[in-house]
Amino acid sequence: MIQLAYLVAAVCFILSLKGLSAPATAKRGNLYGVVGMGIAIAATLAVPGLSAYTRIAVAALAGGAIGALLASRVPMTAMPEMVALLHSFVGAAATLVGLSAHYHGVHPETVTRVEVFLGVVIGAPTLTGSVIAFAKLRGTIGGKPLLLPARHILNAVGLVSLVALGAWYVREPVAPPLWLAAILAGLVGAHVILAIGGADMPVIVSVLNSASGWAAAATGFVLGNDLLIITGALVGASGAILSTIMSRGMNRSIGSVLVGGFGEGDSGPVAAGSPEAEAIAKGVNVGDVETAVELMRGARNVVIVPGYGMAVAQAQHPTFQLVQRLEAEGVRVRFAIHPVAGRLPGHMNVLLAEADVPYDQVFEMDDINPDLPETDVVLVLGANDIVNPDALDKPGSPIYGMPILEVFRAGTVIVVKRSMSPGFSGIDNPLYYRDNTMMVFGDARAVVEAMVKELKGAPVH
Ligand code: NDP
Repeated sequence: MIQLAYLVAAVCFILSLKGLSAPATAKRGNLYGVVGMGIAIAATLAVPGLSAYTRIAVAALAGGAIGALLASRVPMTAMPEMVALLHSFVGAAATLVGLSAHYHGVHPETVTRVEVFLGVVIGAPTLTGSVIAFAKLRGTIGGKPLLLPARHILNAVGLVSLVALGAWYVREPVAPPLWLAAILAGLVGAHVILAIGGADMPVIVSVLNSASGWAAAATGFVLGNDLLIITGALVGASGAILSTIMSRGMNRSIGSVLVGGFGEGDSGPVAAGSPEAEAIAKGVNVGDVETAVELMRGARNVVIVPGYGMAVAQAQHPTFQLVQRLEAEGVRVRFAIHPVAGRLPGHMNVLLAEADVPYDQVFEMDDINPDLPETDVVLVLGANDIVNPDALDKPGSPIYGMPILEVFRAGTVIVVKRSMSPGFSGIDNPLYYRDNTMMVFGDARAVVEAMVKELKGAPVH
């Protein structure tokens, strides 16, 4: 019965992944995941010979309560750091299970020793790497890559030493090689992630997601639990595929992301004084809400590019009201989504779905880029890096080579943000200085609400 329950749970997880691959079915996919996990936990508790029910209940209730509290409080924009933190727990669990299997288990077979060793050397770097990623995303440590001299040699020496420690442990299952391997693998994991620049962090969160899956699969082997092996492999493989898709979205290879040292952009200091004065001094066209509304009302088609700032300002609901108002005036309005807009994969899709924006109004970058030269007005809402033309024409820029939404090709570009401050990668954006760009400074929500109000007051065309 338990094996059957595990099988049903595994099928639920596969259906969950399938559902999560499209916004329209994502909720159902999530539900499959919840049901699968419920079955998995119930079946595991029913395993014969289990006795420590009180301890399990206390741990599950305490852990569950902390998890539920954190998840309900975390703002959408801080989700990547929460995910990074959760990956570190999987790494910690795999390491601890490996170490405890060493002390409690008998290791007659070579294969068991290999499993224990792998659990520890995959788990430890997942733990340390995820903690570093968490601290970087949170801003506790800077986003600049730490580039030690001879760091590739250091990593290579670390890997060779791990192989040697593995051989030692398999030949003679004693504690020192296992502990040494845990510490060394943890150091290598931390070092690899420290060398990765802020701009590559989204990919790294996904790589660590994959690592946490493989760590869970290794734990499944140690514990002889088939479901953990299957689930771990699903997470490991889907995380690896997502990492590849995301690095392709930034025109990088996954190898070059992992080598690190990328994204050392100069995070220009924010100038004092009012953003308008600063921008005008730099020769930027600064406009107001009225002019922006006039431009959009007079357009045949408008494309809205949401970014991290729309998420921070929680401007998705008024933005959809703006869309409806413009459509009532006969303007065609579409949304353009960059694969790494915001701070987590699918961030913008989630926000727009929350505001009930129809899916057929939301276009992926590759589908909308060819239409941008024929677009009258593009409204960039709190986005920066994803529309930065340096990515196309400035070799040496930290984002050079990353595909962007080519909004500068449109008739007019209206950019809504609070100041001239840079975005995530810390670099200036030449889009703001172009003749066909107009900046409207302010919080995205406040500006869009003012636009909606202005449209309400305006006579119908
Ligand atoms: P950016 O971080 O490049 O820019 C966001 C802009 O929003 C800022 O320049 C900021 O300017 C503005 N902003 C912030 N708050 C507000 C507000 N309340 N109202 C209006 N504007 C606001 O975001 P993008 O979405 O353009 O690009 C995403 C970046 O994040 C990429 O570099 C990507 O690599 C990275 N990243 C992506 C992840 C993902 O998985 N999607 C995960 C982690 C990082 P100002 O302060 O002047 O208002």
